[in-house]
Amino acid sequence: MSRVQTLSDFYKSHEWRRLRQSLMIQRSHPAKGLLCEHCKEVILKDIDCIAHHIKELTPSNVHDATIALNPGNILLVHHRCHNAIHERFGTASAQKVYIVYGPPLSGKTTFVRASKGRKDIVLDLDELYRAITLLPPYDKPSELALNIFQLRDVLLDQIKTRTGKWSQAWIIGGYPNFVERERLAQQLGAEIIYIEVPQEECVKRLLQDRDKQYVQQDWLNYIHDWFLKFTPTPPRSEFQETESGTGEGTSDARKPKF
Ligand SMILES: [Zn+2]
Ligand SMILES: [Zn+2]
Repeated sequence: MSRVQTLSDFYKSHEWRRLRQSLMIQRSHPAKGLLCEHCKEVILKDIDCIAHHIKELTPSNVHDATIALNPGNILLVHHRCHNAIHERFGTASAQKVYIVYGPPLSGKTTFVRASKGRKDIVLDLDELYRAITLLPPYDKPSELALNIFQLRDVLLDQIKTRTGKWSQAWIIGGYPNFVERERLAQQLGAEIIYIEVPQEECVKRLLQDRDKQYVQQDWLNYIHDWFLKFTPTPPRSEFQETESGTGEGTSDARKPKF
C-alpha cells in the first residue's frame, strides 16, 4: 500500500482487487447471489459490480487503509447505481476510464449503455463513423479511416489528460491483443473490462441478426479474426503477483511480464 502512488495504481493493486473479490463472495446471498447495496436488485455479472467508497477516495487518503481498504467504507453496487450515488451527492468520482473489449457481437455497447451515466464519454469507432457520415451502422468506407482515426486520437488525448468535466469515459473496441490492451490501459489510467462471449454464441447472434444478413460473411470473418488474434489476460498468479510473498508488493511487481 505504502508505495501505491495514484488512485489508478490503487484500483489496480493486488490488495484492492483481493478485497473487492472477497467482499463479493462474503456479501453474496446463498440463493439470490450478490445484491446491489443501492437498489437491492441482483448483480448478475462480476463486471456489473463496482465497489464504491462511501467516504470518497482522494489522492491524499488513498494511502490510508482505514478508508481505502475498510469494508465498512465500501458498498457493492451496479455501475448504473454508482452513477446515481455520485449524482445525488454531487461528488464527481475521479474521472475513471474503462476499456470495454471483446469479440464482435459480444454486447460491448449494450453493456456500456446500461452502465454509463449521463455525463460520461463513450468512444466507439463505429459511432464516430456514423457521426460524420450519416450512413447506416456497419457501412464504414475505408476512405474515411484516416479522419476517423484522427478524431479518435483527439478524444483519446482528452481522456488521457482528463480534459473537461466528464464523469467517466468508456472506450469500446475489440482489443484482442493483451499487450496492446494493457499498453492502452497504462497510457490512459484505465480499467479493463472483458465482455466474454464464446465464439459460437457470437456466430449465433450474427445468424439471428436481420440487419446483417447481407454482410454475414464479412462478420463471420470479423468474429473469426478476433478469436484468432485473442490473447487473454494472463491469470492473476502470473499477472499481478509476480513477486508475491510479502503481501505488499510494489506497483512494479504488478506489471505484466511479456
Ligand atoms: Zn443497483
Ligand atoms: Zn464511488
